[in-house]
Amino acid sequence: MEILYKSTRGKEKVRASEAIINGLASDGGLYIPTIIPKIDLSYDELIKFDYRELAMYILKKYLTDFSEEEISYCVNNAYNDKFEREEIAPLVKKGDEYYLELYHGRTLAFKDMALSILPYLMKVACKKLNIKDEIVILTATSGDTGKAALEGFAGIPGFRIIVFYPENGVSHIQKLQMVTQKEENTLVFGIKGNFDDAQSGVKEIFEDKNFNESLKEEGYILSSANSINIGRLIPQIIYYVYSYISMIKKGYISKGQEINVSVPTGNFGNILAGFYAKSMGIPINKLICASNENNVLWEFFNDGSYNKNRDFKVTVSPSMDILVSSNLERLLYNISDEKTVKNMMEDLKRKGEYTLSESMISSLKDFYSSFATDKETYEAVKKMYEKNLYLMDTHTAVAYKAYKDYSETTKDEKKTIIVSTASPFKFNKDICKGLGIDEEIEDFRLIEKLSAYTGVEIPISLKILESSPVVHKLSCSKSEMRESIKKYLRV
Ligand SMILES: *Cc1c(COP(=O)(O)O)cnc(C)c1O
Repeated sequence: MEILYKSTRGKEKVRASEAIINGLASDGGLYIPTIIPKIDLSYDELIKFDYRELAMYILKKYLTDFSEEEISYCVNNAYNDKFEREEIAPLVKKGDEYYLELYHGRTLAFKDMALSILPYLMKVACKKLNIKDEIVILTATSGDTGKAALEGFAGIPGFRIIVFYPENGVSHIQKLQMVTQKEENTLVFGIKGNFDDAQSGVKEIFEDKNFNESLKEEGYILSSANSINIGRLIPQIIYYVYSYISMIKKGYISKGQEINVSVPTGNFGNILAGFYAKSMGIPINKLICASNENNVLWEFFNDGSYNKNRDFKVTVSPSMDILVSSNLERLLYNISDEKTVKNMMEDLKRKGEYTLSESMISSLKDFYSSFATDKETYEAVKKMYEKNLYLMDTHTAVAYKAYKDYSETTKDEKKTIIVSTASPFKFNKDICKGLGIDEEIEDFRLIEKLSAYTGVEIPISLKILESSPVVHKLSCSKSEMRESIKKYLRV
């Protein structure tokens, strides 16, 4: 059965390979699969799969214009020794909670789960579509996507990657990771503004037909590595299925038993993949959408209205400092139709807000939402460490807090997986602050101190970082993004 990808805002329908290369539909909508395929193997069969085999099984269902060999090529190049753990996505039990650790890739955040495979999916898609132009990946980042995309595309022939990050909105380690990327085909810019400025700037460039045509004449095609690209969303479904079968394998649940998942959420990509896993048949009861103080999503799930007209806050979970959650558009389509989505997105652009109808609100029952303030985030880090000697990062701590709110309000005792999205070392200053370790020392010394204090080993990629030279020193404003791109491509 062939699965096509259609726009959330119109009738456009394309094959998987085209959706992956286009990034965004031509009407500005996001691509979504026309059908969500069902899992058609028993748990006994699923349990036998390792991560790569499961990835093959899931991806084959969605990428119906890719051959088995092509998918196998992508999977084997992505999920290998780039990850510091054999299981790729280990599930660990600490106290009464279950953590799905998605940060053992090279850049120490869950973005590696999808961005280690996206370049290969794109490479295969280009070949299929007979594209000879060079692909230029434009990426806006709140800190983690940028490095994961750089690492994914670095040195791959036929691709260039340009990353824009908010100059004052990322952690020092995140910034260092990006500006030390050395391959010739990479370029990194600091943006004078916040993540939403970077993201809307990139989106406007994608929608600028003249700009795209002028680049095309020079042999360049723009594409996206942000989670608006369906090629990022689909690989994220794999680890939800994997975590569920890990729960069975480890004897924590019986086959078919319902669980909840709590997801630290920003652009709504990660949790949406969880929603797709549920739609495929994984028995997930509630998807807990955890926000930080930029709690637009919390308001959305509790009031049925989305309002981005508020102050942008820089928090201790910076990868979630977002006021416009792009992937929510895909969920909106799921509970309405393309015309409604188009109108709501126009309202969002014009007035900065939109409101759901009663019937749409009643379709959101799969979700629960709560948020954590910075203070609560620090407390969660400390509490978890003191209680279970488990070190979690600030983003994961937000998900922990939201889960606690959920279990207190609902008294639901179903086992819950907390999606752990980053290594605590990546946000070492705030983790130390939470734990009460003096954080006023240089980053790398602090990392050593944190490791000595907790006994948690420093990831290899961080050890290398200290001695890596800075190669990217450019910055620009949102209005200068087009010029900066042109200059780099010499057009
Ligand atoms: C990107 C990111 C998030 C948010 O994920 P979305 O898919 O944007 O909702 C949460 N935590 C970390 C560490 C991240 O890098």
